[in-house]
Amino acid sequence: MDNFAGYEASSRAYRSKYQNQLGTGSQRPSPTILFIGCFDSRVIPELILGITPGEMMAVRVPGGLVPGQGETDFAIAAGIELTLSRMPSIREVVVCGHTDCVMLNTLAAGVDAEQFPNLARWIGMNDLIKADLDSHTAHDRAILEKSVVQSLKGLREIELLRQKEITGQLRVHGWIFELETGQILALDESSGHFEVLPEPATKFSA
Ligand SMILES: [Zn+2]
Repeated sequence: MDNFAGYEASSRAYRSKYQNQLGTGSQRPSPTILFIGCFDSRVIPELILGITPGEMMAVRVPGGLVPGQGETDFAIAAGIELTLSRMPSIREVVVCGHTDCVMLNTLAAGVDAEQFPNLARWIGMNDLIKADLDSHTAHDRAILEKSVVQSLKGLREIELLRQKEITGQLRVHGWIFELETGQILALDESSGHFEVLPEPATKFSA
């Protein structure tokens, strides 16, 4: 249990510091952001965005990938539907990949399906990321950018999200977080290029 040393003081301090944001029942907060990202230990969206408890829902899966609905591991889609159906306060949906992603490295390299059947299945569900990238161009950056583009497609196959986007109830963003620089790059879907996310004049969710 040494790895959990200090948890009690930490969890109580957390409760004490954020008691206004940790309301339950009718006092439950109204998050404005839904973030889908990688489960990597270095990619903690609340810390990256400077967001406090109650402001954001997060779905974190290997690679931050959202497969198409034909393939979907429905836990991701279920989390998205649950959020959008129960929390009308959501205004921004972000799918975010990151550099040096172990999942994407593994997706590129492949795994032994007999030894790692579930991991192989997850890779198979996201195989489109490698489509159109020949071995020469299938370097880390190309795979990372393609993963975000594919995940945006997967997201928009979720009917509830698509309708809310079309009707202007929320906006959908594709991002890359660069561990080496701390920069967030946002996909400009009209050009297909990732550009540094400009600092909003007001808080991101406003
Ligand atoms: Zn990752």
